[in-house]
Amino acid sequence: MDDCIFCKIARREIAVKAVGMNDSAIAFLDINPVAPGHTVVITKKHAATLMDMNDADIASLFSLVRTATRQIKAGLKCDGFNIGLNQEKAGGQAIPHVHVHVIPRFDGDGGGSMHSIVRNPPKENIDAVYKKIKDAEPVKEQAPEPEPEQEAKPVEKEEDRTKKMLKDWELDL
Ligand code: 5GP
Ligand code: ZN
Repeated sequence: MDDCIFCKIARREIAVKAVGMNDSAIAFLDINPVAPGHTVVITKKHAATLMDMNDADIASLFSLVRTATRQIKAGLKCDGFNIGLNQEKAGGQAIPHVHVHVIPRFDGDGGGSMHSIVRNPPKENIDAVYKKIKDAEPVKEQAPEPEPEQEAKPVEKEEDRTKKMLKDWELDL
């Protein structure tokens, strides 16, 4: 997507402070952090929301969320995290390119939990809400795109690959 800011970051047209990377996702510091180490993890390929992604890309995205979280904790010695996505306008998504926020939390930082995002308890009982979801047309699983056939390559250690990718990224800034 030509005008998408996160696609521009993925194409290296906008510099970022990358904290982690894999073949299909990049983790970098948020330009307007709500906490020290606030990171966003994006897919390299454009997709507006999680609902538009295939299983393999979701697995890669969340694998990098895990690795970035561990890296941030190692560096900042934070006490916990909030990890989540703002999805669609009603969910507060400003940039329509899927991204996971990783927000480090520190004891006594004054922040809340996921429960503090919204206070809109249902006006009908839980059975009525459940029935609406259950009775909706079943959603089809999106099958992952088939992986292209590849020749066997020598296995490289994951840490070495990540270091190389980050180094390469720095050189281009
Ligand atoms: P959203 O509100 O869409 O969930 O969050 C988008 C996030 O991307 C915001 O927290 C914003 O600060 C961050 N962001 C927007 N543009 C840039 C940018 O050019 N560089 C970086 N590093 N972060 C950005
Ligand atoms: Zn995009």
